[in-house]
Amino acid sequence: MTRRWLFADQLGPHFLDSPGQKVLLVESKAVFRRRVFHRQKAHLILSALRHRALDDGVQLVRAETYAEAVREEVTVCHPTSRGARDLVHRLLTVTEVLPPRGFVTAPADFTAWAGGRGHLRMEDFYRDARQRHGILMDGDEPVGGRWNLDADNREPPPRGADRLGVPPPPAITEDEIDEQVRADLDRWEREDGIEFVGNDGPRLFPATRREALARLRHFVTHRLPTFGPYEDAMLAGDPLMSHSMLSAAMNLGLLDPLEVVERAEQAYRDGDAPLASTEGFIRQIIGWRDFIWHLYWYFEPDYRASNELKARRELPSWFADLDAGAVEARCLSDVLAGVRDRGWVHHIPRLMVLGNYAMQRGWRPGAMADWFHRCFVDGYEWVMTANVIGMSQFADAGRMSTKPYASGGAYINRMSDYCGGCRYDPKVRVGDDACPYTAGYWAFLARNEPELAGNHRMRQPLNGLRRLSDVEALVEQETARGSRAP
Ligand SMILES: Cc1cc2nc3c(=O)[nH]c(=O)nc-3n(C[C@H](O)[C@H](O)[C@H](O)COP(=O)(O)OP(=O)(O)OC[C@H]3O[C@@H](n4cnc5c(N)ncnc54)[C@H](O)[C@@H]3O)c2cc1C
Ligand code: SF4
Repeated sequence: MTRRWLFADQLGPHFLDSPGQKVLLVESKAVFRRRVFHRQKAHLILSALRHRALDDGVQLVRAETYAEAVREEVTVCHPTSRGARDLVHRLLTVTEVLPPRGFVTAPADFTAWAGGRGHLRMEDFYRDARQRHGILMDGDEPVGGRWNLDADNREPPPRGADRLGVPPPPAITEDEIDEQVRADLDRWEREDGIEFVGNDGPRLFPATRREALARLRHFVTHRLPTFGPYEDAMLAGDPLMSHSMLSAAMNLGLLDPLEVVERAEQAYRDGDAPLASTEGFIRQIIGWRDFIWHLYWYFEPDYRASNELKARRELPSWFADLDAGAVEARCLSDVLAGVRDRGWVHHIPRLMVLGNYAMQRGWRPGAMADWFHRCFVDGYEWVMTANVIGMSQFADAGRMSTKPYASGGAYINRMSDYCGGCRYDPKVRVGDDACPYTAGYWAFLARNEPELAGNHRMRQPLNGLRRLSDVEALVEQETARGSRAP
């Protein structure tokens, strides 16, 4: 059987045709020269590659370019970026490019579903995928009679609690490979001028299939039951809450998302996890994850350059450099520190703290996509396009979401314990203690009123804006604040 060339995000057994198939892996230092990645992300990728290289029949080649490394005939699974796809089609040593793996649904499923639809909505795709794959179904009906149990989920954090009280994932034990990776990265910084952003720290994410399976087992047993109710909540003292921290393992290909979904469904069927949590979690994977993946290929290549709200400011250096200490706004400072220290924060801080702030301030969507890609351990090009350009920055004017995810401090106050200890007040729009999110929200609406006026879901917020008596002062104040650290 021809050797299989595995990219660094195709490391699991489901990328092979048989367990004994020979493997080629390529480690390229040039990747780290082209972009300033988070130090922990660089560590995770190299550690995962080098751990995989210990398996029988695996050859790891270190080279500047892929073309230099792939000298014998290989087959490859469809890569996850346009650049890599074009490369494998160009290389003469690649004898076959197989369909993509590492997602639950196939490209044909998506095209069959999307064909002829004006609006592409995750919820419709998700229902189609559940039916096609018989996930959480009783015959033709969704288990429990409803497709989406969000009404039972998405609660604010428990009142007065500073932690959720669920066991965190067991710590990962680093080994000599991690030690070598750390030494190499230190040397690259010292001698090769390669730069990283963020702090180094103990490895927090699985680099091997064994570690990934252990994390999955632990999650399903200890955290899945409380996933649903608190999936949108934030606690300053508990950044992980009940989230799975499995995105990096799935995106490295260490776990097959279908096995993750099946384990979760089994826990529900065994009576170990409530339906609302299980459904909410499964929707994240066969709904959101697969939907985002297909949109990357479905949208035209220059979708990534969309900028319908004409947001042209560059990212300020305090944000780009993860300088949480420069920020007084408690929510933003804490979330930025989470990115700096872990290369990971959960979904709501990404969307409602980081993305929301960038959109309010008019930062360039493409720069935000690049920032998320580089600074998050689970960041890859395919995940950025729809999540950042579409969902978080509304730069596509609604091709994948019905309205911008913009909100003021009231949302953050309801869904977190940040505001109590903040020097700003979420209810105040103008003045010294005006919350930069609240004031920023109204200033965003005022600036984009013409673009948003035709969106029926924005009618109410825009009516609210027109009723404000202090819009002029507020806009002046936020223009002066601009992109300064709040
Ligand atoms: C602005 C923004 C940027 C994001 N960037 C990334 C990214 O670079 N990489 C990434 O994997 N996810 C990204 N997400 C989606 C989501 O925030 C992360 O997948 C999640 O926070 C990872 O933590 P977790 O594994 O504990 O997820 P959980 O909350 O436990 O969710 C379970 C799984 O669902 C999947 N998932 C849920 N939502 C999405 C989504 N919108 N897109 C893709 N997968 C999803 C992930 O695989 C995740 O592991 C982004 C979301 C936003 C709003
Ligand atoms: S008051 Fe505003 S800035 Fe402070 S934590 Fe709340 S939302 Fe964030």
